[in-house]
Amino acid sequence: MNSKYQIAVLAGDYIGPEIMASGLQVLKTVSENTDFDYEISEVPFGGQAIDQTNDPLPDATLETCQNSDAILLAAIGGPKWDGVEKSPESGLLRIRQELGLFTNIRPTIINSTMKSFSPIKITEPIDFVIVRELTSGIYFGQPREKSQTQAIDTMRYSSEEIRRVAKVAFDMAMQRNKHVTLVDKANVLATSKLWREVVIDVAREYPEVKYDTSYVDSAAMKIISKPGQFDVILTENLFGDILSDEAAQITGSLGTIPSMSKGEVSPALYEPIHGSAPDIAGKGIANPLSMIKSVAMMLQYSFGRMDLAKQIMTAVDKSVDKKIVTPDLGGDYSTTKVTEFIVDSIKESR
Ligand code: ATP
Ligand code: MG
Repeated sequence: MNSKYQIAVLAGDYIGPEIMASGLQVLKTVSENTDFDYEISEVPFGGQAIDQTNDPLPDATLETCQNSDAILLAAIGGPKWDGVEKSPESGLLRIRQELGLFTNIRPTIINSTMKSFSPIKITEPIDFVIVRELTSGIYFGQPREKSQTQAIDTMRYSSEEIRRVAKVAFDMAMQRNKHVTLVDKANVLATSKLWREVVIDVAREYPEVKYDTSYVDSAAMKIISKPGQFDVILTENLFGDILSDEAAQITGSLGTIPSMSKGEVSPALYEPIHGSAPDIAGKGIANPLSMIKSVAMMLQYSFGRMDLAKQIMTAVDKSVDKKIVTPDLGGDYSTTKVTEFIVDSIKESR
């Protein structure tokens, strides 16, 4: 039997391969001389896969992902594939569907090291996650129609779709500060009323977790005015899409934020929240922190290696503290130099 963890690696397009190299180097360093044993399979995905096979998600890539314990993705897409029939992004939608990745989780962390980048005044440490339903709601509901004078989108949810993502949120809260806020528009929307009914039921299974609700308009204000009050924000697809970009903005550092998409049984997928940044590709200046933190998130959530994740996060903080950072964070270090610094600090800390 092969007891090594299998990790599927999808480097993707433009800056994708540049930051993936950093992530893998850090993974290798942090697992050296430990019992964390893994094997990677690098497979084509997105634009890179379209060039090779005319398909953003080739069967072989999907199969590798299905047989892995976790998936690391850097970034896909870009102007080279504008207007192709099967876009790189359609590959991403398909992989989510095939693997049943119905939850997307994004952390927003602003500690004393990062607070100088925030466009808002940070008076207390910020550390919350948004747990967003990813495979249902208005982006998928039928009917969807458009004529010259009228258009229809449909927001639809089943109680089962709500329950499974709610459980992810409460499980996450149990590992964190035991507080879940459901964000909805229950004063107007029927779907939101169902969310409230189902989530209160799930909340009863987690008596230790404080549970409250917030309307989405009010939550949008609080993310700016009182972000410290949140621990886990649970919300549906459209609201989560908008709020998670808002939350990313208050960190002031798009190039540093990881994310995780997970389902019930399949391997979880970890990726930076930003795109493939064609404007800076090939210049060696892409910020690798989002990818490196995606590796840390994978170690923590897929493999239960909080110890290794912590080593990475400490080294990342140190690089920001010492201003060993790429131009997007005001430094003049290259992707490679930042990565080398992080690798060296991990080695020194042992
Ligand atoms: P997508 O639609 O794929 O999300 P996008 O149009 O939102 O793409 P991104 O690729 O996310 O754009 O990039 C937005 C801006 O942020 C660009 O100017 C890009 O150069 C910059 N950026 C994104 N990621 C990084 C990074 N890791 N390091 C430095 N700059 C980055
Ligand atoms: Mg974008």
